[in-house]
Amino acid sequence: MSASFSAFIAGKPVIGAGPALPVINPADETELTHVAEAGPDLVARAAEAARAAFDDGRWSRQSVEARQEMLRRIADRIDAGAAELAAIETANTGIPLSQSKVRHVARAGHNFRFFADYIGQAAGRVYDQAPDHMTLVRRQPVGVAGLIAPWNAPVALGAMKIAGAIAFGNSCIIKPSEQAPLGVHKLVELIHDAGLPDGVVNLVSGRGAVTGDALVRHGDVNVISFTGGTATGRAIMSAAGQMLKPSTMELGGKSANIIFDSADFDQAVDGALLGIFTNNGQQCLAGSRILVQRSIADRFIPAFLDRVARLRVGSPLDAGTELGPVASRAHRDRILAYAETARREGMQILAGGKPHAGFDKGFYLEPTVAMTDDAAATVCREEIFGPFATILLFDTADDAFRIANATDFGLVSYVWTQDLYLALRAQEELQSGVVWINTPMMRELRAPFGGWKESGVGAEGGMDCEAFYTRQKTVTMAR
Ligand code: NAD
Repeated sequence: MSASFSAFIAGKPVIGAGPALPVINPADETELTHVAEAGPDLVARAAEAARAAFDDGRWSRQSVEARQEMLRRIADRIDAGAAELAAIETANTGIPLSQSKVRHVARAGHNFRFFADYIGQAAGRVYDQAPDHMTLVRRQPVGVAGLIAPWNAPVALGAMKIAGAIAFGNSCIIKPSEQAPLGVHKLVELIHDAGLPDGVVNLVSGRGAVTGDALVRHGDVNVISFTGGTATGRAIMSAAGQMLKPSTMELGGKSANIIFDSADFDQAVDGALLGIFTNNGQQCLAGSRILVQRSIADRFIPAFLDRVARLRVGSPLDAGTELGPVASRAHRDRILAYAETARREGMQILAGGKPHAGFDKGFYLEPTVAMTDDAAATVCREEIFGPFATILLFDTADDAFRIANATDFGLVSYVWTQDLYLALRAQEELQSGVVWINTPMMRELRAPFGGWKESGVGAEGGMDCEAFYTRQKTVTMAR
C-alpha cells in the first residue's frame, strides 16, 4: 500500500520519503492507510508556503467582509461534506458516528461561522489625548500560526484552531496527531475546495518528536497553539519559550463532577454519565471524578451503575452506539493498567475494569467505575482519558470543594444543585477555568475555554483567539 499523504502544502497533497506510520481503525484494528512522515524538510516547505501566502496579502490584507464571506463558504463546504468527514473521523478514532456528526463535524462548520461573525464586530480603540493628538490601538495578524492537535477530537479541535488563526488574516500549518490525521486532512481539503488562497492553510503529518518539534522550532512560525497532554505541553512551551514564541496550551484534566443532594436527581445521573462516557471517555473535559454527597449515595450510585450497565457499547457505525472502542491498543492497555492499579490500591471496582468480551477485534473496554475514600489514589490524581469514572463521597460543601480542588489540574468543574446559594458558592470556590452548573459540556465560543493550573496556559474563544492570533500596535498621531 502506498502512503496516502505526508502533507498538504500550498494547495496540494504532498507525499514525502519519511517513515511509514500506519493509521489504524480502532474498531476493527485494520490499517486504513499509512502516512509517510513529514520530516523537517517538508515542515520547512510548509512554513515557506505559509509565509509566502501571508506576505502576498491575498488573504492577510483582505477586507473583513471578504474574509467573512470566505469563512462562511468554508463552513458551507464542511456542511456539504459532513457525511464523508464524519465517516472518516469515526473510522480513524472510533468515536460513535452519531457523535462525530453532531459534536465534531457540525461544530467544525459552526466554528468558521462563529469567527465570521466575530470579526464583523471586532474593533480597535481610539484615545483622544488632546484636540490635536490621538492614539489608535490596532490589531494586526501575527503571521504564521503553528497548530498542534491531539487525536481525541481531531476535526472539531482542528477546525477551532484553523478558524481562529485564519479569521484574523494569518496563514497556518496544522499538525494533527500521527494517530488520527485523516479527518484533519479531509478538513484541509474541504477548506481548500472552498477557494481559500493556496498556502493559507497547510498540513504536516507525523510524530510529535519529529514533525511537531520541527514545526515548533521553525523560525517562520510565529505562534504555537497546542492542545494535548500536559507533559507534551511543558516540552513545547519551553521550546517555544526559548525562541520567545507565544504559545497557548490546552492541556489535560481530572475534572470533578459534584452531585449535591439538592440536585435534580435524574438530571445529575444523566450529567454524570455524559460527563465521563461521551467521546468514549476520551475528553480533556471529562468529569472523571464523580463526587457524590453521602446523603444521596445509596440512591445515586445504584442509579448511576444501572445506567452504566445499560450503556450501548458497540460498533461506532451503529446509530445506537453510545460507547465505541478507545483509540488504540496502547491506550486500551494503559487504561487497563489503571484498573489494575486501582485494585492494587484497594479500591472497589463497581463496574468494568476489563476488555469488553463482546468483540473479537477492536479496542473495546467495559465502562469502568471505581470507588474510593482516598482522593489521593492514583486513579483520582492522574488523567486516564478513557471510559473510567471514579466515585468519591463527601459530606459537606466544604469537603466537596476541597476534594474537587485537590488536583494538579483545573480545566472544568461540574456542579449539580438546585440550590442557588450553593451554585454561587461553588463557582466561587472551584479552581478551574470553566464551571458548568446543571449542564454537561455546554460550550460558549464567545467565552474563554482554558485551564487553570496544569490544565493550560491561555484559552480559546472569541476574544482570546483575537488576542492570541493578532499583535497590538499603538499609533499616536498629531496634527
Ligand atoms: P499528546 O500530548 O501526546 O499529543 C498531542 C499532539 O502533540 C500530537 O499531535 C503529537 O504528535 C504532538 N506532539 C507530541 N510531542 C511533541 C513535541 N515534542 N513537539 C511538538 N508536538 C508534539 O496528546 P494526545 O495523546 O494526542 O491527546 C490527549 C491529551 O490531550 C489529553 O491529555 C487531553 O486531556 C488533552 N486534550 C486537551 C484539550 C483541552 O482543550 N484542554 C482538548 C483535547 C485533548
